[in-house]
Order: sequence, then structure tokens, then C-alpha cells
Amino acid sequence: MTARGRPVLDPATGRTVTRLPDTDGPGVADAVARADAAFREVWSDTSPARRSGLLRDLGDLLRDDRDEFAALERLDAGKPTARAAGEVDFAARVVDWFAAAARYPVGETHPAGPGMRTYTDRVPVGVCAAITPNNYPLLLAVWKIAAALAYGNTVVVKPAPETPLSIRRLVGRAGELLPEGVLTAVYGGAGTGRLLCDQPAVGMVSFTGSTTAGREVARRCADGLRPVSLELGGKSPVVVFRDADLDAAARAVVAGFTGNTGQMCVAGSRLIVEQAVHDEFVGRVAELAGALRVGPPEDPGTDLGPLISRAAAERTAEVVEEAAARGARVILPPGRRGVRHDLGGGFFVHPAIVDGAPFDGRAWREEIFGPVLSVASFATDAEALDLAHDTAYGLSASVWTSDADRTERFGRALRAGMVWVNTWGDTEETVSVSGLGQSGYGRELGIHAVEGYTRPRAVWVAHRPGR
Ligand code: NAD
Repeated sequence: MTARGRPVLDPATGRTVTRLPDTDGPGVADAVARADAAFREVWSDTSPARRSGLLRDLGDLLRDDRDEFAALERLDAGKPTARAAGEVDFAARVVDWFAAAARYPVGETHPAGPGMRTYTDRVPVGVCAAITPNNYPLLLAVWKIAAALAYGNTVVVKPAPETPLSIRRLVGRAGELLPEGVLTAVYGGAGTGRLLCDQPAVGMVSFTGSTTAGREVARRCADGLRPVSLELGGKSPVVVFRDADLDAAARAVVAGFTGNTGQMCVAGSRLIVEQAVHDEFVGRVAELAGALRVGPPEDPGTDLGPLISRAAAERTAEVVEEAAARGARVILPPGRRGVRHDLGGGFFVHPAIVDGAPFDGRAWREEIFGPVLSVASFATDAEALDLAHDTAYGLSASVWTSDADRTERFGRALRAGMVWVNTWGDTEETVSVSGLGQSGYGRELGIHAVEGYTRPRAVWVAHRPGR
């Protein structure tokens, strides 16, 4: 990085869009101090009704500036325009949901004798540090910001270094609505994230990112006994039985490994298909995925934009080659493997399907964060479940079958924070989500978000002291 700041690249061209200096130590401390002052002096005295109203205004702001936010998401994350705009819409719905949730009842009143009132309630954590990833820059930051603000916290957000632009705009525009210091941002990479985790005035860290980084965040927060919410990586299975609606399943499998160019925590990157329909089904998936258009995000015909960085594109291509070298069959792309140099200087790859990759290799085991599907087949239900669980992650899982008994059994048995039966990828602002295992812990969205962004208390009020 130069003195002029860290370059922010357009992944579709590889060109530098702008430069943004990393926030240094004093800058991070200052942002947290301002957030802390805003919490103590203003926000903790702001009624839920008022917070709710301000959040509704924030939702309107996202809707009013939809095109600008979508353009920024396209620019620094390489998202096709329609996808980016859809994510802005989702972000606005999330803000609306938390605007309402700010006014939901919390706590319980306990039976107590005369002269005593005993209740539990929830109090804000104070300053919430939100550290966010590069795959849904605006949306995932908004999940955290909206929840934290709704429940009475102030927020310092640190977007991923590759994708700071939409958050910079959001924080700038929100400054016109919210009291000073209630929502601020700091910029930079892991170094800035570490500084943020170490600030004594930070009341909790809400982290979404890779499992490796999440572990370090948890270790740092342990020193300060700071609560941390971790939404981490995945290597999610999609199990397809011969009795499934194979057309619907094939479409879902393709969406599951190519959506957002495979850069989804919940990506269905392992297809586990019943032997009897293996060839037919994989053929359908390959046909659909092969027809997708990889290209510039501003082209309305583009299905897959670029990956986030050159390193990500090279790593994705490398994993496919490594699997091939170890005997896997590369079903897709035919003759077009590797980084796509025919599309200018952007970080493009074609979707890839590898069949029979070794179970100890990267294609089967590691989160690739690129459009690569690893295929294995099974003969029995027990084998299908074993393969599905052959991962340390537990973020999501999907099963496709028309057998009612099996939908029930797999719905119960699949070990993942999100289980989709005869569907894939559904997410709604009203439903709380989190991972299991190496996919982290914590809660985002829905009514359970309140548990992460507040702390419970028990209160005894004696009306007759010394009774
Ligand atoms: P990343 O882990 O490289 O970075 C995420 C964020 O953490 C960035 O802001 C980064 O600067 C910061 N960071 C990195 N190391 C840090 C450290 N040691 N201390 C503090 N902050 C640190 O992840 P990424 O490449 O931006 O995003 C992709 C990853 O995010 C994937 O693993 C994906 O599965 C995961 N993800 C998870 C979810 C979920 O809900 N479970 C959602 C989206 C993305």
C-alpha cells in the first residue's frame, strides 16, 4: 500500500477505482470513542420508537439511493447490476424488519411476593464493532448495523478492504439522519480489524468472514472477555435422490454453486447424488451451468461477474487443476479451464464441475469461494448422510427427494445451521440464521438477533425495603 491509500479495484477490469487509506490506530480509537460517547450521551436515551423511526428513514434512504448503491456494489464487488439492486432491496427490507423489532417486547416478569417486582430485560452492549466480508458488502453490513442500532447500540463498521465503497456511502448518508457517532466506519484489512477488536470500549464484535479470521477474532476478544458473534465459512452439501424433481434440483444446484460467482458462504459446493441418476443428473447440471454467461457486470445478459480478486481467480483455477491431477474428472468447462484472459483484465473464471475429487483434496474439503462444484455419489441413505457430514463446517445443507419420510429424516438429521428441503438458498429477514461447527456461532436476522446485540439482566425492585 502506498501513502496515497489502499487501492480499491474494479474486479471486472482489474483497474484501480480509487484509493482509501487504512484507518490507523489513533483513527480506530477515535471512531470507537465517538461511538462510545454517542452511546452514553445520546443513543441510550433515545426511545425505541425514535430509533425505529430513524431506521425506517434509513430503509427509505436505501430505496431512494438504490441505483447508486447498486452501482457501487457493481464497481467494487463486480456484481451484475440486477443482482446488486436485489441486494439493496433486501438490505432495505432488513432495515424495515429491525425498525419494527426495535419495538418488540423483551424480557419476563417473574412471580414475586408483595412489595417486590422481579423482571428480566435486555440492555444494549454499547459499541458494536461490525467486521464484514467482501461477498455481500452492503447487505451483510446492514444485517449487523440495523440489528445493533435497533437494540440501542452504536456501531463502528469495518468493511472488507476490497469492497468499502457502498458502506462508505451508507455511513455518509446515514450521517444526515443519525446523531453524530452513532454509525461510523473504519477502513483497512486484517490490521484494522485487529485494532477494532482490541478497543476496550467495544462491547461486542459481530464478525462475518472466513473461519481462519474468525478464529483470530475470537481469540482476541477472549482477552477482553468481549462477546463475539461469528458467521464463518462453509462447504455445504446438496444431496439429490433419484426420486427428486430432478429439473428443479438441477436448477438449484447450479444456482447454489454459481450464484454470486460462487462467492457465497452458503454455496452448495458439494453435490452428493444417488448413483442411479448420477450421469443423467450431472449432465443436466453441466448443461445448465455451461450455458451461463460469464461477462462484464454491466451487461444485462451476464450471469456470472468476476471474482473479487486475481488471487481468488487463480486459486479457483488451481483447485480444479489439482483435482484433475489427482484423478477427478473435470466435466465443466470443456477446454476453457483457468482464469479467463479473454475478458480483459478482470478476474473471471468459468464455472467448473469436478467429479470424483479425492476426499482429502481441496475441491471436496475446502471452501473455494469460486464457482466450483465437487461431485460424489452414494448408494444408500446412510452413505448420503455420511458424505454430507464429511466436513468440519455446518453452515447449510440441502436435500432433494419426493419421499415424505426421507424429507423428515434428513430435515432432522442434517447437521447445519440452515437446512433446505426441496429448496435451496431461501433467506428472509424474519428468520434467524447461524452456523454450526466451524461455520461459527451467533445469530443474525429474525427475532433471535436480539440475543447477540443485547445482554440479559435480572432486576429486583423492592417497593417495601426490608420487608
Ligand atoms: P475474510 O475473513 O478475509 O475477511 C472478512 C473481514 O474480516 C474483512 O473485513 C477483513 O478485513 C477482516 N479480517 C480479516 N482478518 C482479520 C483479523 N485477523 N482480525 C480482524 N479482522 C480481520 O473474508 P472475506 O474474503 O472478506 O469473505 C469471505 C468469507 O466470509 C468466506 O469464508 C465466507 O464463507 C464468509 N462469509 C460467511 C457468511 C456467514 O453468514 N456465515 C456470510 C458471508 C461470508
